[in-house]
Amino acid sequence: MNILILGSGGREHALAWKLGASPLADKLYCAPGNAGIAQQAECVALDLADHAAVIAFAREKKIDFVVVGPEAPLCAGIVDDLEAAGIKAFGPTKWAARLEGSKGFTKDLCRANNIPTAAYQRFKGAAAAKDYVRKKGAPIVVKADGLAAGKGVVVAESVAEAEAAIDMMFSGGLGAPAWEIVIEDCLVGEEASFFALCDGENAIALASAQDHKRVGDGDTGPNTGGMGAYSPAPIMTAQMEARVMEEIVRPTVRALAKAGAPYKGVLFAGLMITAQGPQLIEYNVRFGDPECQVLMLRLKSDLLPALVAARDGQLKNFDLRWSSDAALTVVMAAKGYPGQYAKGTPIEGLDAAAQVEGVEIFHAGTVADGARILANGGRVLNVCATGRTVREAQARAYQAVDKIKWPDGFCRRDIAWRAVEREE
Ligand code: AMP
Repeated sequence: MNILILGSGGREHALAWKLGASPLADKLYCAPGNAGIAQQAECVALDLADHAAVIAFAREKKIDFVVVGPEAPLCAGIVDDLEAAGIKAFGPTKWAARLEGSKGFTKDLCRANNIPTAAYQRFKGAAAAKDYVRKKGAPIVVKADGLAAGKGVVVAESVAEAEAAIDMMFSGGLGAPAWEIVIEDCLVGEEASFFALCDGENAIALASAQDHKRVGDGDTGPNTGGMGAYSPAPIMTAQMEARVMEEIVRPTVRALAKAGAPYKGVLFAGLMITAQGPQLIEYNVRFGDPECQVLMLRLKSDLLPALVAARDGQLKNFDLRWSSDAALTVVMAAKGYPGQYAKGTPIEGLDAAAQVEGVEIFHAGTVADGARILANGGRVLNVCATGRTVREAQARAYQAVDKIKWPDGFCRRDIAWRAVEREE
Protein backbone atom coordinates (compact mmCIF):
# COMPACT_ATOMS: atom_id res chain seq x y z
CA MET A 1 0.00 0.00 0.00
CA ASN A 2 1.07 3.56 -0.65
CA ILE A 3 0.42 5.62 2.46
CA LEU A 4 0.21 9.36 3.06
CA ILE A 5 0.45 10.64 6.64
CA LEU A 6 -0.76 14.18 7.29
CA GLY A 7 0.99 16.20 10.00
CA SER A 8 4.45 17.26 11.13
CA GLY A 9 4.90 16.46 14.81
CA GLY A 10 6.24 13.73 17.06
CA ARG A 11 2.91 11.95 16.78
CA GLU A 12 3.29 11.70 13.02
CA HIS A 13 6.92 10.58 13.35
CA ALA A 14 5.80 7.75 15.65
CA LEU A 15 3.04 6.83 13.19
CA ALA A 16 5.50 6.87 10.29
CA TRP A 17 7.92 4.68 12.28
CA LYS A 18 5.19 2.16 13.05
CA LEU A 19 3.43 2.19 9.67
CA GLY A 20 6.77 2.04 7.86
CA ALA A 21 7.51 -1.22 9.71
CA SER A 22 4.38 -2.86 8.32
CA PRO A 23 5.02 -5.55 5.68
CA LEU A 24 1.92 -4.17 3.94
CA ALA A 25 3.45 -0.73 3.46
CA ASP A 26 5.10 0.12 0.16
CA LYS A 27 5.78 3.81 -0.29
CA LEU A 28 5.33 6.14 2.68
CA TYR A 29 4.78 9.89 2.29
CA CYS A 30 4.25 12.54 4.94
CA ALA A 31 2.95 16.07 4.47
CA PRO A 32 4.50 18.33 5.54
CA GLY A 33 6.65 16.13 7.87
CA ASN A 34 9.93 17.08 9.56
CA ALA A 35 13.63 16.13 9.51
CA GLY A 36 13.07 12.97 11.58
CA ILE A 37 10.08 11.79 9.58
CA ALA A 38 12.23 12.21 6.45
CA GLN A 39 14.21 9.16 7.63
CA GLN A 40 11.05 7.03 7.33
CA ALA A 41 8.98 8.74 4.67
CA GLU A 42 9.25 11.08 1.72
CA CYS A 43 8.18 14.48 3.02
CA VAL A 44 6.10 16.73 0.79
CA ALA A 45 5.32 20.40 1.30
CA LEU A 46 1.52 20.34 1.13
CA ASP A 47 -0.77 22.87 2.80
CA LEU A 48 -3.19 20.67 4.78
CA ALA A 49 -5.86 23.37 4.61
CA ASP A 50 -5.84 23.01 0.82
CA HIS A 51 -7.84 19.81 0.47
CA ALA A 52 -7.79 19.95 -3.33
CA ALA A 53 -3.97 19.94 -3.27
CA VAL A 54 -3.91 16.96 -0.91
CA ILE A 55 -6.36 15.08 -3.16
CA ALA A 56 -4.36 15.92 -6.31
CA PHE A 57 -1.16 14.66 -4.65
CA ALA A 58 -2.85 11.47 -3.45
CA ARG A 59 -4.14 10.79 -6.97
CA GLU A 60 -0.78 11.48 -8.59
CA LYS A 61 1.09 9.16 -6.21
CA LYS A 62 -1.61 6.47 -6.21
CA ILE A 63 -2.09 6.70 -2.46
CA ASP A 64 -4.13 3.80 -1.09
CA PHE A 65 -4.60 5.12 2.43
CA VAL A 66 -4.33 8.52 4.12
CA VAL A 67 -3.73 8.71 7.88
CA VAL A 68 -4.61 12.08 9.40
CA GLY A 69 -2.64 13.05 12.53
CA PRO A 70 -3.89 16.43 13.85
CA GLU A 71 -7.41 17.60 14.71
CA ALA A 72 -7.57 20.75 12.58
CA PRO A 73 -7.82 18.98 9.19
CA LEU A 74 -10.29 16.46 10.67
CA CYS A 75 -12.54 19.24 11.96
CA ALA A 76 -12.21 20.93 8.56
CA GLY A 77 -13.55 17.79 6.85
CA ILE A 78 -10.46 16.43 5.13
CA VAL A 79 -11.66 12.84 5.54
CA ASP A 80 -15.03 13.70 3.96
CA ASP A 81 -13.27 15.34 1.00
CA LEU A 82 -10.74 12.53 0.49
CA GLU A 83 -13.43 9.83 0.68
CA ALA A 84 -15.66 11.80 -1.72
CA ALA A 85 -12.71 11.77 -4.14
CA GLY A 86 -12.47 7.97 -3.79
CA ILE A 87 -9.39 8.00 -1.53
CA LYS A 88 -9.53 5.88 1.64
CA ALA A 89 -8.75 7.90 4.73
CA PHE A 90 -8.39 7.14 8.43
CA GLY A 91 -10.14 9.47 10.84
CA PRO A 92 -13.61 10.81 11.64
CA THR A 93 -15.77 12.88 9.34
CA LYS A 94 -16.26 16.58 9.98
CA TRP A 95 -19.59 15.87 11.67
CA ALA A 96 -18.16 13.20 13.98
CA ALA A 97 -15.07 15.34 14.69
CA ARG A 98 -17.39 17.73 16.57
CA LEU A 99 -16.67 15.47 19.55
CA GLU A 100 -13.46 17.49 19.80
CA GLY A 101 -14.48 20.62 17.92
CA SER A 102 -17.48 21.46 20.13
CA LYS A 103 -17.56 20.96 23.87
CA GLY A 104 -21.28 21.76 23.95
CA PHE A 105 -22.01 19.05 21.39
CA THR A 106 -20.09 16.45 23.41
CA LYS A 107 -21.66 17.45 26.72
CA ASP A 108 -25.17 17.20 25.24
CA LEU A 109 -24.32 13.80 23.77
CA CYS A 110 -23.14 12.61 27.19
CA ARG A 111 -26.26 13.90 28.89
CA ALA A 112 -28.57 12.25 26.34
CA ASN A 113 -26.80 8.90 26.65
CA ASN A 114 -26.04 8.75 30.38
CA ILE A 115 -22.29 8.96 29.82
CA PRO A 116 -20.65 10.03 33.09
CA THR A 117 -19.33 13.59 32.87
CA ALA A 118 -19.37 16.73 35.05
CA ALA A 119 -22.74 18.50 35.41
CA TYR A 120 -22.78 21.55 33.11
CA GLN A 121 -24.67 24.29 31.35
CA ARG A 122 -24.06 26.07 28.00
CA PHE A 123 -24.11 29.89 27.71
CA LYS A 124 -24.12 32.35 24.82
CA GLY A 125 -23.80 35.47 26.98
CA ALA A 126 -21.76 36.63 29.98
CA ALA A 127 -24.60 37.79 32.26
CA ALA A 128 -26.39 34.42 32.50
CA ALA A 129 -23.04 32.62 32.77
CA LYS A 130 -22.01 34.79 35.74
CA ASP A 131 -25.38 34.25 37.45
CA TYR A 132 -24.84 30.50 37.12
CA VAL A 133 -21.31 30.70 38.53
CA ARG A 134 -22.52 32.78 41.52
CA LYS A 135 -25.25 30.23 42.16
CA LYS A 136 -22.92 27.21 41.90
CA GLY A 137 -19.88 28.65 43.70
CA ALA A 138 -16.22 27.69 43.22
CA PRO A 139 -14.19 25.74 42.26
CA ILE A 140 -15.83 25.68 38.85
CA VAL A 141 -14.60 25.13 35.30
CA VAL A 142 -15.13 27.57 32.40
CA LYS A 143 -14.58 26.31 28.84
CA ALA A 144 -14.79 28.04 25.47
CA ASP A 145 -16.50 26.06 22.72
CA GLY A 146 -14.37 25.22 19.68
CA LEU A 147 -10.74 24.29 19.17
CA ALA A 148 -8.45 26.40 21.35
CA ALA A 149 -5.23 24.36 21.28
CA GLY A 150 -5.67 23.42 24.94
CA LYS A 151 -5.98 27.05 26.10
CA GLY A 152 -9.74 27.32 26.27
CA VAL A 153 -10.19 25.90 29.79
CA VAL A 154 -9.98 27.76 33.10
CA VAL A 155 -10.30 25.79 36.34
CA ALA A 156 -11.40 28.69 38.56
CA GLU A 157 -10.67 28.52 42.29
CA SER A 158 -12.98 31.44 43.09
CA VAL A 159 -16.18 32.99 41.72
CA ALA A 160 -14.21 36.15 40.82
CA GLU A 161 -11.72 34.09 38.77
CA ALA A 162 -14.59 32.34 36.98
CA GLU A 163 -16.24 35.67 36.19
CA ALA A 164 -12.97 37.02 34.81
CA ALA A 165 -12.61 33.91 32.63
CA ILE A 166 -16.15 34.41 31.29
CA ASP A 167 -15.38 38.03 30.36
CA MET A 168 -12.03 37.05 28.86
CA MET A 169 -13.58 34.37 26.62
CA PHE A 170 -16.54 36.44 25.42
CA SER A 171 -14.36 39.49 24.77
CA GLY A 172 -11.88 37.70 22.53
CA GLY A 173 -9.13 36.85 25.01
CA LEU A 174 -8.53 33.57 23.17
CA GLY A 175 -8.18 35.23 19.76
CA ALA A 176 -11.76 35.49 18.57
CA PRO A 177 -14.68 36.08 20.96
CA ALA A 178 -16.21 32.78 22.08
CA TRP A 179 -19.67 32.27 20.60
CA GLU A 180 -20.55 29.90 23.40
CA ILE A 181 -19.03 28.68 26.65
CA VAL A 182 -19.66 25.64 28.81
CA ILE A 183 -19.52 25.90 32.60
CA GLU A 184 -19.14 22.66 34.50
CA ASP A 185 -18.56 21.26 37.95
CA CYS A 186 -14.99 20.68 39.01
CA LEU A 187 -14.16 16.96 39.15
CA VAL A 188 -11.79 15.59 41.77
CA GLY A 189 -9.57 12.57 41.13
CA GLU A 190 -6.65 11.44 39.00
CA GLU A 191 -6.50 12.23 35.30
CA ALA A 192 -5.73 9.62 32.66
CA SER A 193 -5.91 9.39 28.88
CA PHE A 194 -7.51 6.40 27.24
CA PHE A 195 -7.47 5.53 23.56
CA ALA A 196 -9.87 3.36 21.58
CA LEU A 197 -10.08 2.48 17.91
CA CYS A 198 -13.55 2.78 16.35
CA ASP A 199 -14.97 1.57 13.04
CA GLY A 200 -18.35 3.29 13.14
CA GLU A 201 -20.02 0.45 14.98
CA ASN A 202 -17.41 -1.35 17.07
CA ALA A 203 -14.71 -0.07 19.35
CA ILE A 204 -11.63 -1.84 20.64
CA ALA A 205 -9.43 -0.63 23.48
CA LEU A 206 -5.95 0.56 22.59
CA ALA A 207 -4.05 1.62 25.71
CA SER A 208 -3.84 4.26 28.42
CA ALA A 209 -1.34 7.02 29.14
CA GLN A 210 -0.74 9.95 31.42
CA ASP A 211 0.84 13.20 30.35
CA HIS A 212 2.47 16.23 31.94
CA LYS A 213 0.93 19.47 30.69
CA ARG A 214 2.82 21.99 32.84
CA VAL A 215 6.16 23.30 31.63
CA GLY A 216 8.06 22.95 34.91
CA ASP A 217 9.21 20.17 37.22
CA GLY A 218 6.71 19.25 39.90
CA ASP A 219 3.88 20.13 37.48
CA THR A 220 4.42 23.88 37.86
CA GLY A 221 4.30 26.84 35.46
CA PRO A 222 2.11 27.46 32.42
CA ASN A 223 0.32 24.78 30.41
CA THR A 224 1.92 23.41 27.24
CA GLY A 225 0.99 20.98 24.51
CA GLY A 226 2.59 18.30 26.73
CA MET A 227 6.11 17.95 28.18
CA GLY A 228 6.13 14.17 28.51
CA ALA A 229 3.97 11.08 28.87
CA TYR A 230 4.06 7.45 29.82
CA SER A 231 2.01 4.34 29.18
CA PRO A 232 0.26 2.50 30.71
CA ALA A 233 -1.34 4.78 33.32
CA PRO A 234 -1.10 2.82 36.59
CA ILE A 235 -4.61 3.90 37.59
CA MET A 236 -6.07 2.33 34.44
CA THR A 237 -6.33 -1.26 35.61
CA ALA A 238 -7.92 -3.84 33.31
CA GLN A 239 -11.12 -3.44 35.30
CA MET A 240 -11.10 0.35 34.92
CA GLU A 241 -10.43 0.03 31.17
CA ALA A 242 -13.41 -2.30 30.86
CA ARG A 243 -15.60 0.24 32.69
CA VAL A 244 -14.44 3.06 30.43
CA MET A 245 -15.22 0.98 27.35
CA GLU A 246 -18.69 0.04 28.63
CA GLU A 247 -19.72 3.29 30.30
CA ILE A 248 -18.10 5.88 28.04
CA VAL A 249 -16.61 4.71 24.72
CA ARG A 250 -19.23 2.22 23.48
CA PRO A 251 -22.25 4.40 24.34
CA THR A 252 -20.57 7.25 22.42
CA VAL A 253 -19.96 5.11 19.35
CA ARG A 254 -23.56 3.78 19.50
CA ALA A 255 -24.97 7.30 19.88
CA LEU A 256 -23.10 8.65 16.87
CA ALA A 257 -24.06 5.64 14.74
CA LYS A 258 -27.69 6.18 15.71
CA ALA A 259 -27.42 9.84 14.79
CA GLY A 260 -26.29 8.84 11.29
CA ALA A 261 -22.69 10.01 11.74
CA PRO A 262 -20.72 6.87 12.59
CA TYR A 263 -17.41 7.54 14.32
CA LYS A 264 -14.35 6.03 12.65
CA GLY A 265 -10.87 6.69 13.91
CA VAL A 266 -9.06 7.01 17.21
CA LEU A 267 -11.19 8.18 20.10
CA PHE A 268 -9.06 9.78 22.81
CA ALA A 269 -10.92 10.09 26.09
CA GLY A 270 -9.54 12.54 28.65
CA LEU A 271 -10.75 11.06 31.93
CA MET A 272 -10.96 11.93 35.58
CA ILE A 273 -10.93 8.79 37.70
CA THR A 274 -13.06 9.88 40.65
CA ALA A 275 -14.15 8.04 43.78
CA GLN A 276 -17.41 7.29 41.92
CA GLY A 277 -15.64 5.92 38.85
CA PRO A 278 -14.46 7.26 35.49
CA GLN A 279 -15.86 10.58 34.24
CA LEU A 280 -15.29 12.05 30.79
CA ILE A 281 -13.49 15.41 30.81
CA GLU A 282 -13.22 15.72 27.05
CA TYR A 283 -12.87 13.84 23.80
CA ASN A 284 -10.19 14.29 21.19
CA VAL A 285 -10.69 12.79 17.76
CA ARG A 286 -7.10 11.69 17.09
CA PHE A 287 -4.05 10.28 18.81
CA GLY A 288 -2.55 12.46 21.51
CA ASP A 289 0.84 14.08 21.06
CA PRO A 290 3.03 12.94 22.88
CA GLU A 291 0.80 10.02 24.01
CA CYS A 292 0.86 8.44 20.55
CA GLN A 293 4.62 8.06 20.79
CA VAL A 294 4.46 5.90 23.91
CA LEU A 295 1.53 3.89 22.58
CA MET A 296 3.38 3.05 19.37
CA LEU A 297 6.37 1.85 21.38
CA ARG A 298 4.16 -0.59 23.30
CA LEU A 299 2.12 -1.85 20.32
CA LYS A 300 3.46 -5.22 19.17
CA SER A 301 0.94 -5.81 16.38
CA ASP A 302 1.02 -4.28 12.93
CA LEU A 303 -0.79 -0.91 13.13
CA LEU A 304 -1.67 -0.65 9.44
CA PRO A 305 -4.29 -3.44 9.21
CA ALA A 306 -5.92 -2.09 12.38
CA LEU A 307 -6.31 1.40 10.91
CA VAL A 308 -7.58 -0.04 7.63
CA ALA A 309 -10.07 -2.23 9.52
CA ALA A 310 -11.32 0.85 11.39
CA ARG A 311 -11.85 2.65 8.08
CA ASP A 312 -13.55 -0.40 6.53
CA GLY A 313 -15.89 -1.13 9.46
CA GLN A 314 -14.13 -4.44 10.17
CA LEU A 315 -12.92 -4.10 13.74
CA LYS A 316 -15.24 -6.70 15.21
CA ASN A 317 -13.07 -9.54 16.57
CA PHE A 318 -9.92 -7.55 15.82
CA ASP A 319 -7.24 -8.06 18.40
CA LEU A 320 -4.10 -6.05 19.08
CA ARG A 321 -1.16 -7.21 21.16
CA TRP A 322 0.59 -4.85 23.56
CA SER A 323 3.87 -5.13 25.37
CA SER A 324 3.59 -5.22 29.16
CA ASP A 325 6.67 -2.98 29.29
CA ALA A 326 6.35 0.66 30.23
CA ALA A 327 7.07 3.35 27.66
CA LEU A 328 7.95 6.94 28.46
CA THR A 329 8.72 10.07 26.49
CA VAL A 330 10.54 13.22 27.53
CA VAL A 331 9.78 16.27 25.40
CA MET A 332 12.73 18.53 24.64
CA ALA A 333 11.60 22.05 23.87
CA ALA A 334 13.24 25.30 22.77
CA LYS A 335 14.17 27.57 25.69
CA GLY A 336 11.35 30.05 26.24
CA TYR A 337 8.57 27.65 25.22
CA PRO A 338 5.58 27.94 25.71
CA GLY A 339 6.36 31.67 25.36
CA GLN A 340 8.81 33.24 22.89
CA TYR A 341 11.60 31.01 21.60
CA ALA A 342 14.20 31.01 18.84
CA LYS A 343 14.16 28.73 15.81
CA GLY A 344 17.16 27.45 13.88
CA THR A 345 19.41 26.44 16.78
CA PRO A 346 21.60 23.39 16.08
CA ILE A 347 21.11 20.01 17.77
CA GLU A 348 23.91 17.45 18.05
CA GLY A 349 24.41 14.04 19.59
CA LEU A 350 21.19 12.47 18.31
CA ASP A 351 22.90 9.35 16.95
CA ALA A 352 24.70 8.67 20.24
CA ALA A 353 21.48 9.22 22.17
CA ALA A 354 19.59 6.77 19.94
CA GLN A 355 22.17 4.05 20.82
CA VAL A 356 20.97 3.85 24.43
CA GLU A 357 19.15 0.56 25.01
CA GLY A 358 15.40 0.77 24.54
CA VAL A 359 15.55 4.35 23.23
CA GLU A 360 13.73 5.74 20.21
CA ILE A 361 13.85 9.42 19.29
CA PHE A 362 10.94 11.01 17.47
CA HIS A 363 11.24 14.49 16.02
CA ALA A 364 8.50 16.98 16.82
CA GLY A 365 9.80 20.21 15.28
CA THR A 366 13.06 19.91 13.37
CA VAL A 367 14.40 20.82 9.96
CA ALA A 368 17.48 19.53 8.17
CA ASP A 369 20.20 21.93 7.02
CA GLY A 370 22.51 19.71 5.00
CA ALA A 371 23.75 17.17 7.54
CA ARG A 372 22.78 19.38 10.49
CA ILE A 373 19.52 19.14 12.43
CA LEU A 374 18.03 22.45 13.52
CA ALA A 375 15.20 23.20 15.95
CA ASN A 376 12.13 24.42 14.12
CA GLY A 377 9.41 24.78 16.72
CA GLY A 378 8.53 24.95 20.41
CA ARG A 379 8.39 21.26 21.14
CA VAL A 380 11.31 19.86 19.18
CA LEU A 381 12.22 16.27 20.18
CA ASN A 382 10.56 13.33 21.91
CA VAL A 383 13.16 11.19 23.62
CA CYS A 384 11.34 7.91 24.25
CA ALA A 385 12.32 4.70 25.98
CA THR A 386 10.81 1.41 27.02
CA GLY A 387 11.68 -0.59 30.13
CA ARG A 388 10.35 -3.38 32.31
CA THR A 389 9.38 -0.70 34.83
CA VAL A 390 8.60 2.99 34.49
CA ARG A 391 11.75 3.68 36.48
CA GLU A 392 13.88 1.76 33.97
CA ALA A 393 12.24 3.52 31.01
CA GLN A 394 12.76 6.86 32.75
CA ALA A 395 16.46 6.18 33.44
CA ARG A 396 17.05 5.20 29.80
CA ALA A 397 15.24 8.23 28.42
CA TYR A 398 17.24 10.66 30.58
CA GLN A 399 20.49 8.86 29.74
CA ALA A 400 19.69 9.59 26.08
CA VAL A 401 18.63 13.19 26.85
CA ASP A 402 22.03 13.77 28.46
CA LYS A 403 23.80 12.73 25.24
CA ILE A 404 21.95 15.34 23.20
CA LYS A 405 23.92 18.56 22.79
CA TRP A 406 21.42 21.34 22.40
CA PRO A 407 22.29 24.35 24.59
CA ASP A 408 19.14 26.16 23.43
CA GLY A 409 16.79 23.39 24.54
CA PHE A 410 15.40 22.18 27.85
CA CYS A 411 13.23 19.42 29.25
CA ARG A 412 11.52 18.46 32.48
CA ARG A 413 13.62 16.13 34.64
CA ASP A 414 10.74 14.44 36.43
CA ILE A 415 8.54 12.86 33.76
CA ALA A 416 6.49 10.01 35.28
CA TRP A 417 7.33 10.97 38.88
CA ARG A 418 3.92 9.85 40.08
CA ALA A 419 4.20 6.41 38.44
CA VAL A 420 7.78 5.96 39.67
CA GLU A 421 6.69 6.79 43.23
CA ARG A 422 3.96 4.17 42.94
CA GLU A 423 6.49 1.53 41.93
CA GLU A 424 8.53 2.13 45.07
P1 AMP B 1 -9.79 19.95 28.50
O1 AMP B 1 -9.25 20.87 27.46
O2 AMP B 1 -11.29 19.89 28.54
O3 AMP B 1 -9.12 18.64 28.56
O4 AMP B 1 -9.33 20.58 29.88
C1 AMP B 1 -7.98 20.84 30.15
C2 AMP B 1 -7.67 20.46 31.56
O5 AMP B 1 -8.51 21.18 32.47
C3 AMP B 1 -7.92 19.00 31.87
O6 AMP B 1 -6.86 18.20 31.51
C4 AMP B 1 -8.14 19.04 33.38
O7 AMP B 1 -6.90 19.11 34.06
C5 AMP B 1 -8.85 20.36 33.57
N1 AMP B 1 -10.31 20.16 33.60
C6 AMP B 1 -11.16 20.26 32.57
N2 AMP B 1 -12.42 20.01 32.96
C7 AMP B 1 -12.37 19.75 34.29
C8 AMP B 1 -13.34 19.43 35.28
N3 AMP B 1 -14.65 19.36 34.98
N4 AMP B 1 -12.92 19.24 36.54
C9 AMP B 1 -11.62 19.35 36.87
N5 AMP B 1 -10.64 19.65 35.99
C10 AMP B 1 -11.01 19.85 34.70
